[in-house]
Order: sequence, then structure tokens, then C-alpha cells
Amino acid sequence: MGRLFAIEIIYRGIFQKTLGKHISRSIVLAAHKEDKLGISFGRYGDSPERNGIPAKNFAIVATDEQTLEEGMAKYEPKEVDITIAVDDTLCKGVESWAWYGLQPVNRLLKPGGTLIVTSREQPEALIEMAHRKEYPYKLAIVKGTPSFSGLWVYKDDHTDVRILGAIARILPELFSLESVQKAIMDEWHDELKATSAGKSYERTTSLTVQPNQGNPEEPYRFDFPKWHEMGEGIAIPSIPAGHSFEDPTTHAVGGFRPDRNPTFKKFSTRTMRPVVNFDTCIKCTLCWLQCPDSCFDVTPDGLYDANMQACCGCGVCEAVCPVKDCVTMVNETEFRDNASQWEMWKKDKEGYKTWLEEKIKSHPERSHGFRYRGQYEEQVPEMLEIAREG
Ligand code: SF4
Ligand code: SF4
Repeated sequence: MGRLFAIEIIYRGIFQKTLGKHISRSIVLAAHKEDKLGISFGRYGDSPERNGIPAKNFAIVATDEQTLEEGMAKYEPKEVDITIAVDDTLCKGVESWAWYGLQPVNRLLKPGGTLIVTSREQPEALIEMAHRKEYPYKLAIVKGTPSFSGLWVYKDDHTDVRILGAIARILPELFSLESVQKAIMDEWHDELKATSAGKSYERTTSLTVQPNQGNPEEPYRFDFPKWHEMGEGIAIPSIPAGHSFEDPTTHAVGGFRPDRNPTFKKFSTRTMRPVVNFDTCIKCTLCWLQCPDSCFDVTPDGLYDANMQACCGCGVCEAVCPVKDCVTMVNETEFRDNASQWEMWKKDKEGYKTWLEEKIKSHPERSHGFRYRGQYEEQVPEMLEIAREG
């Protein structure tokens, strides 16, 4: 029996589809250089891939055919040596819509396995976002903003090869840097990309994340029904319409909060979230009307509070709001919970104002495909500079 390697690549559906494919395919091509066998494939729950929704590719590599066949006899790997998240906001969890509820980004990692994240954050910030595991795992960061390389514009920022260089450093049994660089030259004929892989190899370090570090929340768990437990037919409970609710300061009851699916959380699709200045809101209703996910609760005092369990971060509310800077999209890495902004504002208006200003000021810009055309293109030179200089 030979050795089996499994690598998982978690990416943002559509936006990073080409990037995810390049990474998983190149892993197999680099392993071929050492006479290993492998296969790369996409895995997206049971429904079509959509904009921004977490999706996965896998690369399975083995030292011999029988081991590969055995490794492939599963629908998807039950455990992996490396998980790669090509967008740091995925550290909050992965819910790929109609899959199986919000799952920790590190769920499939073996003991001692490595989570590689592309990010400009410090390790502490990423560790705080990821759910705790029962055993230690490692974290490595490939410095950079989440790449949209290969989307509707092909603007290469070398994220793919920099990740390959990091893998060669972390898991040398899979392939060497030399094999990675040979595969790059065969595939892209690009010395600069091979150099970027080498620099990433040299710079890559990892740290161990202990079981007591990370998000302590219990991730969603479920049990599949056994075939012999299944009845004839199935009844799917509908979601109730919604209800009024209480103002935490005046205790007035009013407004309307739609009831939402208790297990289907869309927030892991979000890379940015709207923050609302309730002091300047003119209650025009446009955000509430136009939000494609019915995220807004109408508060008892007639304001509109975006529910952060349901918001997928599309940015429509920011775009339609007629009041300057009333709704601002902020990088999701700036937040640690999904608490109600309106409740925070009601309880402490001055404190909320300070919080709001800090969030808006501190956030590094993100391109998530909706803000304005060409935003990602503007980031490419900076990313190539990071690839060169670290
Ligand atoms: S970003 Fe705004 S419009 Fe889009 S889902 Fe969230 S609350 Fe709704
Ligand atoms: S669109 Fe802007 S001004 Fe209008 S209700 Fe929403 S937050 Fe208030």
C-alpha cells in the first residue's frame, strides 16, 4: 500500500473558479514529475456554482495506481493533508448553499495538517475566525489580497504558483520545488511564475494552532437518516412569515422581522458587509426593497437593520442608498460576530458612531466583483510586487 495525499482548495464560486482549477490541476502536474499519479476535480454540493458562494476543488495524488483507486472510491475525501482557502473571509466557515450547513474551514484537516490562506491579515486574526479543532493543526499564510485572477479578465497575479511553492515547502513528500517549477515551465512557459513559486517556497513558514485557539462556537452538526429510517414521502416544513419585535430601549413592539431558515446561513458567501449610519438614514425603504435576500428587518422605529446571518454581501444596499455614506461595505475580516447593528446603535449612539467610523476607516479595500469594474485590475501590480518582494 502506497501513500495517498489529499489537498482541498476552497474558493469563491465563479469569481475564483479558474484560480481553483489552476491550483488543483497544477498540484497533479507537479506530482507527475515525480512519477506520482493523481486526479483533480471540482466539488460543489449538489447545485450549480454561483457567484461568491464557497465551492471546492480537490487534488488527490498517490504513489501507485491501487492507492489512487482506493482513495478515489469516496465521494469526496474524508480528510486532507492540506486545505487551501484562497480568500481569508472563508476562515469564518463554509456554507455552499444546499450543501450541509455552515462547516468549519479546517473541518477536513488531518491532525497536523496545514491550512494555507491567502491573506494580508496577521495569523492571530485568521485563527480567531476559524472554528476550533479537537487536535492541533498548522496555519500558513501566502501574503496577498484574495485573487480574482482568471475571472472575466485574465490578469495574472501569480497566486496560483505562489501557493504551489508553499505546498512544496509544507509537504515535501508530495513534490519538490524543482518539480513545481518544471510543471510551471511546461504549462505556462513563464520564468517569472517559476521565480514567484521559488520565492514563496523560501518565505513560507507555518505555526501550530492549538485546540484551545479559535472560534469556540459549535459548528452546525446533523445526522444523515439511515435508509431504513426513511418513510414514504417527505414533508419540508415551511418558514413562518415573520413577526414584530421589541425595541431594546423603548420596549415598544412593532416593525417586522421575517422568519428565516434556522440552519441555512448565507453569511459565509460574504466578503464585505454593509454598515449603516442610522443617524443619516431617511427611511426611504430602498435598501429593504432591493436587497435580493430579504435581509432587512424593519425596526419598531421604522429603520432598516440588515440581518448578518442572512446577508450575502452583494453590495446592492450600498449601491441603491440615496444618502451619501449612509451604507458602506466593509471588509468582512473586520468583524467577529453577526450582531444587530441597530441594537448596538439604540443602546449607545455615541459608541456606535465611533465603532462605525473605525470600521469604515480601517477596512482594506476588497474587490468582490460588484463594486466597480476594473477594481481587481488595479490590485494586480501590487500583488505582483508582493510576489517579488514579500
Ligand atoms: S449586502 Fe445589502 S443588499 Fe446585499 S444581501 Fe446584504 S443586506 Fe442585502
Ligand atoms: S436605502 Fe439608505 S436611506 Fe434608504 S432606508 Fe436604506 S439605509 Fe436608509
